[in-house]
Amino acid sequence: MYQNLPQIRGKYRFKVNLAKMCWFGVGGNAAVIFTPSDIDDLIYFLQNKGDIPIFTFGVGSNILIRDGGFYGVVIRLGQSMNFIQQIDKDVIKVGASVLDQNVSNFAIQHSIGGLEFLSGIPGTVGGGLAMNAGAYGKEFRDIVMKVQAIDINGKLISFTNQEMGFKYRSNSINKEIIFLSTELKGFECSQSAIIKKVEQIKTNRLDTQPVKGIKTGGSTFKNPDGLKAWKLIDEAGCRGFKIGGAEVSQMHCNFFINNGSATAKDIEDLIDKVQEKVFIKSGIMLQKELVILGKKIETC
Ligand SMILES: Cc1cc2nc3c(=O)[nH]c(=O)nc-3n(C[C@H](O)[C@H](O)[C@H](O)COP(=O)(O)OP(=O)(O)OC[C@H]3O[C@@H](n4cnc5c(N)ncnc54)[C@H](O)[C@@H]3O)c2cc1C
Repeated sequence: MYQNLPQIRGKYRFKVNLAKMCWFGVGGNAAVIFTPSDIDDLIYFLQNKGDIPIFTFGVGSNILIRDGGFYGVVIRLGQSMNFIQQIDKDVIKVGASVLDQNVSNFAIQHSIGGLEFLSGIPGTVGGGLAMNAGAYGKEFRDIVMKVQAIDINGKLISFTNQEMGFKYRSNSINKEIIFLSTELKGFECSQSAIIKKVEQIKTNRLDTQPVKGIKTGGSTFKNPDGLKAWKLIDEAGCRGFKIGGAEVSQMHCNFFINNGSATAKDIEDLIDKVQEKVFIKSGIMLQKELVILGKKIETC
């Protein structure tokens, strides 16, 4: 694969350990990581990459990388898509690599309300669009006006909110599409009211979620219609349940944790076991919110 990589202006890194790039802190290597220098560089790469598999990465706060790693090119948009511009009093244009928390900070500085929920989500805007990330009753679907993106052949496209077909922690867009930027709409609001909401969110999170210095991928399973995944997991007796170095958080049992020694296999085995136990107890098959990438290393 290495000989066939297009000559880009950006940067390739080879055999990079993805464990260092994701919140769980587990997983194998990516054969290549590509950081384009700008959109034209990305277009050139996509038009000339042939059949090399690609995967777009944000900051890995919702991904479990398997121990066998990913034999392909991981795309990180990096600085090329790290910008925020105010284009109207309550509308901003944001690059996909910007952290949700930085969008929230920008909104505070510019007195734009409605984006406070982003303050507690540790991912990027690209990851947020892909996952329709949300918290405290709001999600990307509620703030997105338009999305600029690029397809696997290097063709630029854009989507309206409706065309994105946002669903609970997902959207209807082909998974190979790379989101580049988006226009987000809030509303004019006093800074003090925005700061108050952000503070409430912060306190609430620290009280209910294991977020401080913990290796986790956030919510493991989606909430089934009208139900809470954490409650079903708790009722199936899985709070604190462990396999190897992986465990179900005592504090919030839809959060799974690497206690420091877990492999990706431990975490995936724990996910499968909890899914099975919940099914046996409730008849409900929980669906994963967590994205799983790469190759398993089979042991016998
Ligand atoms: C402590 C903690 C708390 C969390 N709390 C919440 C919460 O309250 N609400 C919530 O919704 N989530 C939460 N999450 C999960 C996670 O932060 C979100 O899903 C976030 O949006 C993922 O963004 P990311 O940049 O980390 O994406 P990654 O984890 O890197 O990737 C996730 C998915 O997005 C895709 N993706 C990333 N960037 C792009 C792009 N530019 N174009 C196309 N696809 C892309 C990837 O291919 C992958 O499929 C939490 C996670 C943690 C660790």
